[in-house]
Amino acid sequence: MDALRLLPVSALADNYVWLLADAHGDAIAVDPGDAAPVTAALRAQGWQLRAILLTHHHADHVGGVEVLVKGTPGITVFAPQDERIAAVTQQVGDGDRIAIDRPACRFEVIAVPGHTRSHVAYHGHGLLFCGDTLFSIGCGRLFEGTPAQMLASLDRLRTLPDATRICCGHEYTLSNCRFALTIEPDNAALRERHADAIRQRDRGEPTVPTTLASELACNPFLRTDQPAVAARLGATGPTGADRAARFGALRAMKDAFRA
Ligand code: ZN
Ligand code: FE
Repeated sequence: MDALRLLPVSALADNYVWLLADAHGDAIAVDPGDAAPVTAALRAQGWQLRAILLTHHHADHVGGVEVLVKGTPGITVFAPQDERIAAVTQQVGDGDRIAIDRPACRFEVIAVPGHTRSHVAYHGHGLLFCGDTLFSIGCGRLFEGTPAQMLASLDRLRTLPDATRICCGHEYTLSNCRFALTIEPDNAALRERHADAIRQRDRGEPTVPTTLASELACNPFLRTDQPAVAARLGATGPTGADRAARFGALRAMKDAFRA
């Protein structure tokens, strides 16, 4: 049963819609911000859409839902509790376990506030669908949350198994690497990741999914407790407030960074 196939579909400017399908071609879509590329990918693969998972309310993640649901009436749309998400048929919250029959798959819902207040991630089958919370070598902007909230969300994600494949919402890896290298110029794993990502993009391939192990080694937003990173961010110290201050300082530097 467990031969699920994972396919990132490029959508809009730099979004990924994630498709997950079984051997019968029954598929789910995560964060379909646009319907057309999803419909085209489903047709090309010979897959049928059975359910949709949404991580947060932003248009580039939910914009294709209405058209997709119209094309396949009756499908379940899982989404966090948020009045800004209209098409939801099953609301989910932190700690919920959701089960889908076709394709047979199960996910744990993890609340990850920070980018938005109701953002969730879905973890199952060695995969993490994390929307705009954790990117490869980066994290989402803090539109509706505090640095402390986003840090707490990332602290939860970092406890998942190292081999977890990180399926994020955007192709931001190259510009994220350029910023990360200003924070940790001597991080060999990061430099290797950057070189790999350049090759992947040159070949027209996505740089994701990545693994949690790789992110822990390379992503400055998961490394603000590392002495070299902490020193770079000024605020050092073991307390929670200092951790959040360091994280906030890093996020502010990224917001001001022009690659
Ligand atoms: Zn977003
Ligand atoms: Fe987004």
